[in-house]
Formats: sequence, structure tokens, C-alpha cells
Amino acid sequence: MLSYMISNPVGGMSGISSADARMIAEDSSKAIELRLQSLELACAAMWTILKDKHGYTDELLVEAITEVDGRDGKVDGKISRAERICPHCNRKVLTRNPNKCSWCGGALHPLGL
Ligand SMILES: [Zn+2]
Repeated sequence: MLSYMISNPVGGMSGISSADARMIAEDSSKAIELRLQSLELACAAMWTILKDKHGYTDELLVEAITEVDGRDGKVDGKISRAERICPHCNRKVLTRNPNKCSWCGGALHPLGL
């Protein structure tokens, strides 16, 4: 969307200039970056508490990250949002990693297989 707005300055989505579109994109990017920095800080603080107060280790964190990453069938540094279909009722599964279908109650494989 933003690339469209930037590459189509005249008569774009709302008739805004390419300079305005660029400024909007930069503002949006800065807001996302600030939010990401806040989340990184919160994660680092929580991890410090878990290590210092509860004895967890970096190795345990890496194991947990790898396990969660692999839940979608591949360890690739991303959590897949691929749509799953219940094998019992053929409806779309409503949550990412449920143990049972919200529609029919049928058991679901934890890896989505
Ligand atoms: Zn179902």
C-alpha cells in the first residue's frame, strides 16, 4: 500500500503528493521502530528477571524458541499463520495451536499435521 502511494504520486489513493506519502511512511516506520524497541526492552528485562531470580539459562531459552518456531512444521525463525482445516468437520481452525477444534471438539495434532 505504501509503496503504491509513493510510486503513484498523482491521483493516488487520496490524491496526496509523493512527498506527503513519503512523510506518512516515515512516520509510520518510526512508530513501528519505537514500539519494537519498547518490546525488545521489555523482553530483555523479563529475561533478566527469569535468569537472575529463577535460574533459567540462555540454553533453555534457545530450546524454547526452537520448539515454538517448529510448531508450524519448520524451524525458520517465523511463526507461520497458515490456515488449518479441521480433519473432522472441515472447518477453518480458529486458533493457531489448539488441542481441539472449536467447532466440533475433535482432537487436533499439536503440529497441525
Ligand atoms: Zn472440527
